[in-house]
Amino acid sequence: MRIVVKIGTSTLAHATGRLNIRRTGELCQVISDLKNAGHEVIMVSSGAIGMGVGKLSLKEKPKDIPTKQAAAAVGQCELMYIYDKLFSEYSHTVAQILLTGSDFQAEDRHENFNNTLSRLLELGVLPIINENDTIATEEIKVGDNDTLSALVAVSVKADLLVLLSDVDGLYSADPHKDKNAKLIETVNGVTDEILALAGGVGSALGTGGMKTKLRAAKLCNDNGVDMVIANGETPELLYDIVNGQTGKFTRFLAEK
Ligand code: GLU
Repeated sequence: MRIVVKIGTSTLAHATGRLNIRRTGELCQVISDLKNAGHEVIMVSSGAIGMGVGKLSLKEKPKDIPTKQAAAAVGQCELMYIYDKLFSEYSHTVAQILLTGSDFQAEDRHENFNNTLSRLLELGVLPIINENDTIATEEIKVGDNDTLSALVAVSVKADLLVLLSDVDGLYSADPHKDKNAKLIETVNGVTDEILALAGGVGSALGTGGMKTKLRAAKLCNDNGVDMVIANGETPELLYDIVNGQTGKFTRFLAEK
């Protein structure tokens, strides 16, 4: 299978912005194992800004663009250093790809991206993608990695996109407010009714919320790609997700 795994800042970092070492270690182990089993994996990783906040000892996520971009420039290095180190332990080679929204719109750049990505996968490399935050201004950015990962999954004709976040999946109501809220295990078609279930959740360091995740699901499903929302707290869930099992996560099935 060709799988895109998106990792949110809340999965990678503690609230301080510093790396969650145990979680990230487990994640890299499971992804290495999936590659060893023969799957093609592409990662879309957030965390550049969050890690920059940690490394620069800023008190909170910056609000102004120059500081955000500076934090991303610092954090992206840290992020790739960690991935390189952890995946090397399992003899996997990583590559960094930084994109903005305009790279998907310009035909030649989009084609270059697809060509490079195919070659990397042929070479057995694990591509790790993020938005090019240091140059992405309002006009050209995708803005959140839920959408970016859906654009990537559709572009590379992936079989599956997995969004790892700090929520278990999509609930029938807001689980923080309604104790009868139930986790929806399977969604057949992202209807207006489903889209209406998105609350405003998001973490202090991350960008997206349920709204961007449901929009990503629609984009994937409309283009024949299945999508799953799962809690990044338990990276081992990826085994069940890839094996097509049901569990404590939400699977959005594309019409085939
Ligand atoms: N590109 C941002 C970062 O690496 C994250 C965007 C998002 O969380 O969706 O910090």
